[in-house]
Amino acid sequence: MTTPLVEMDGDEMTRIIWRMVKDELLLPYIDLKTKYYDLGLEHRNETDDQVTIDSAEATKKYGVAVKCATITPNAARMTEYNLKEMWKSPNGTIRAALDGTVFRAPIIVKGIEPCVKNWEKPITLARHAYGDVYKNTEIKVPGAGKAELVFTAADGTEIRETIHEFDGPGILQGIHNTDKSIASFARACFNYALDIKQDLWFATKDTISKKYDHNFKDIFQEIYDAEYKEKFESAGIVYFYTLIDDAVARVMKAKGGFIWACKNYDGDVMSDMVSSAFGSLAMMTSVLVSPDGVYEYEAAHGTVQRHYYKHLAGEETSTNSVATIFAWTGALRKRGELDGNKELMSFADKLERAILTTIESGRMTKDLALITSLEDVKVLNTEDFIKEIRRTFEAL
Ligand code: NAP
Ligand code: MG
Repeated sequence: MTTPLVEMDGDEMTRIIWRMVKDELLLPYIDLKTKYYDLGLEHRNETDDQVTIDSAEATKKYGVAVKCATITPNAARMTEYNLKEMWKSPNGTIRAALDGTVFRAPIIVKGIEPCVKNWEKPITLARHAYGDVYKNTEIKVPGAGKAELVFTAADGTEIRETIHEFDGPGILQGIHNTDKSIASFARACFNYALDIKQDLWFATKDTISKKYDHNFKDIFQEIYDAEYKEKFESAGIVYFYTLIDDAVARVMKAKGGFIWACKNYDGDVMSDMVSSAFGSLAMMTSVLVSPDGVYEYEAAHGTVQRHYYKHLAGEETSTNSVATIFAWTGALRKRGELDGNKELMSFADKLERAILTTIESGRMTKDLALITSLEDVKVLNTEDFIKEIRRTFEAL
């Protein structure tokens, strides 16, 4: 390796897996160079979350990062970790800093068939990673009163709309997005579609949200017409816009093999649906792509807290490390591509092949064993599965 990867360590079971993957599958085979940032909750708390900001800045500098799953604190975590503050979601901080789009795709392997039997090819979800409900302002309305939406322009002029006249307690939420972020989301999706030569679907609720959602639809259409229409036509791919409920219905009937662009919340919800229907949350890859070509790879799942508590209690776990390893291989391959390092790229390819071969030969973790169509399956624990991948890798 010439340029280092930005390495963001994380929490709980995925932190345990992180160490094992490095020791068993990376360090023995490559001269791994990383800039290490410990995003484990304890260290975020010690540094007043500065470490998260520093890791995002380093990602901008070096161009490629790999991230372990991290805890997003809630009330229970405040006491569990004795936190100074309820720190923000690291993913939220990193996404806001990079202004990126998250692409999530299932890892397809023989023997793990999707629940939706007509899905023959992967569906890649492109999630807008800025704004909406993830950057909201909320009020718990105590009682009767009038709620208004007010915008004060730089020159002092006001736009004012009544939201609701409350006659009793209720709730209020203010959300926003920017044309700039929506435009870079659109370009990221169009570029990615051209990159992997797949159709692009996009959907919002523009019939109900005539200004907010309609703005997404219009920006996508303007950019498509001005910059991408011809490129799509010569690549033989299609840009298709519809309403979000229609999109959901069509996805269930589709064959797959396309990119589904979703607003931030839709992408959060739909990517978990798509990944679990393709087999397992642990078989979903995730990459954040910024408009200026910075990449951050991670697994789509969380820190697998329930398994971690079993691990702490000394019980055996069978946690699937596939998406975490694919985060590493994705980052290493991209690093290799940017640095013209073919050896590093073929290492990543070979390690991925070793994973798929291991599973296809019937050696897998419990989550996959429960859903596989293969017979004579050997269920392995967390560590033995990683060691088995190493054995396959050595034999390839
Ligand atoms: P989770 O870690 O994704 O796990 C939910 C459940 O899915 C697990 O209990 C397990 O089911 C199954 N699962 C997920 N990954 C698995 C794997 N690799 N192997 C086997 N089974 C797997 O979600 P969570 O428990 O709701 O969240 C735990 C913590 O993760 C939270 O603190 C949350 O803030 C954080 N989180 C972080 C990220 C991120 O950093 N990107 C994303 C989401 C959540 P069974 O228990 O039935 O085996
Ligand atoms: Mg989610």
